[in-house]
Amino acid sequence: MKRLAAALFFAVAAAGAPLLAESNVDQATAREVYAHIISLRTAAGHGETPAMVAYLADVLRQGGVPALDIATLEAGGATAMIVRLPGTEAARPILFSAHMDVVDALPEDWQRSPFTLIEEGGNFYGRGTMDNKAGVAALVATILRFKAERLQPARELLFAFVGDEETGMETTRAIATHPWVRDAEFAINTDAGGGLLDDATGKPLVYLVQGAEKTFATFDLAVTNPGGHSSRPRADNAIYQLAQALLKVQAHRFPVMSNDLTRAYLGAVGNAQSGPTGEALRAFAKDPNDAAAAAVLADSPEFAGTTRTTCVATLLSGGHAENALPQTAGAAINCRIFPGVAVDTVRRELEAAIADPDVTVTTRDSPTASPVSEMRPDVMAAIGRAVHEHYPGVAVVPYLESGGTDGKVYRTAGIPTFASSGLFSKPSQMFAHGLNERLPVQSFYQGLDHIYALAVDLGGAKPAAP
Ligand SMILES: [Zn+2]
Repeated sequence: MKRLAAALFFAVAAAGAPLLAESNVDQATAREVYAHIISLRTAAGHGETPAMVAYLADVLRQGGVPALDIATLEAGGATAMIVRLPGTEAARPILFSAHMDVVDALPEDWQRSPFTLIEEGGNFYGRGTMDNKAGVAALVATILRFKAERLQPARELLFAFVGDEETGMETTRAIATHPWVRDAEFAINTDAGGGLLDDATGKPLVYLVQGAEKTFATFDLAVTNPGGHSSRPRADNAIYQLAQALLKVQAHRFPVMSNDLTRAYLGAVGNAQSGPTGEALRAFAKDPNDAAAAAVLADSPEFAGTTRTTCVATLLSGGHAENALPQTAGAAINCRIFPGVAVDTVRRELEAAIADPDVTVTTRDSPTASPVSEMRPDVMAAIGRAVHEHYPGVAVVPYLESGGTDGKVYRTAGIPTFASSGLFSKPSQMFAHGLNERLPVQSFYQGLDHIYALAVDLGGAKPAAP
């Protein structure tokens, strides 16, 4: 990476532009911030988000951010922070977001300490290296660079540091409705979106921008029965009844769906793929009514979720003793609902598929459905320019998220959100939430460049008047 930075430095210096001249210094600072925040165990229950906010606010103040441009918030037992870089024009602000919290990691299960940044074999290891402390470091590095280079954005830039993305997303809700943020024109989320490298060759395949998320919803199936002594079986039995309901859920297929975003995504992925799957992807992108193509994709764990709502049994319970007829039996059905479909529509469709009035279907918690963020040509073009700095020519396409981020909170609050981390990785190297999480060292530094380039480009930044 050093070589790349040096090359960049000379190229830019030769062109007479001073903007990237401090690039090596910025990298060292960003790495130092990254190492410090990895050492903080910001998992739910450990109470470390206030310490992280205090540390980051201190770094930013030392870098020239006035205290009045830093706001801290508390919600849901976590602390969050918003930082602003005021614009020279009266235009709606642009929000950049990253989350400081992590899924917990048990040190005894890891090969290396999860709370120490370790650089080894071209990777950074540690909890949060990928999800999402590289994003936090990129936001901090961007703010520091704006200050060091005396850059001023035309439109106000806001930087959100979320405290509880992995759990309640209460701080995200507080950020989305904060007076600085609520009028933001759109948001760039660093927590998703990125480039795929070929597992075998390391060649860049495609760069994905998250523009929508499926709704995460769980439905509880329950059957009750008077029960009795197991030596006197009755005709009806809660466990058998539930088992039959589950087989009907297993057999049920939700209708095939598509929108501009999924067609663009499936078509682009299809163009990069050979064989019957590639053929089906291209055919479906052209004509989503192509039933044969949809059937091929329905059997692919990778693409089924992009073509319809999916539901699957994930938990099971029932009975209370080995010698008693079960009085209850229950199962959890976890669904990933296609954007635009109401949660209750899916609940009723499950009820209809089960077709047994003794099996109740209830919605767990209160799932958040979020709208699709229509792709903006200006944002996609800026992301393309930033990506092509390191990977010229790679296709930049939108995708529908089957997992989940707090982008849905911003979208629901009326702020269109595009997730773009600038990080490239191999699918086999994805260890977010799992053991031995890591990020290629080169990706970390490219991620810094990515967020900085987007902030300069989308914010219309210019050197401050002397
Ligand atoms: Zn995340």
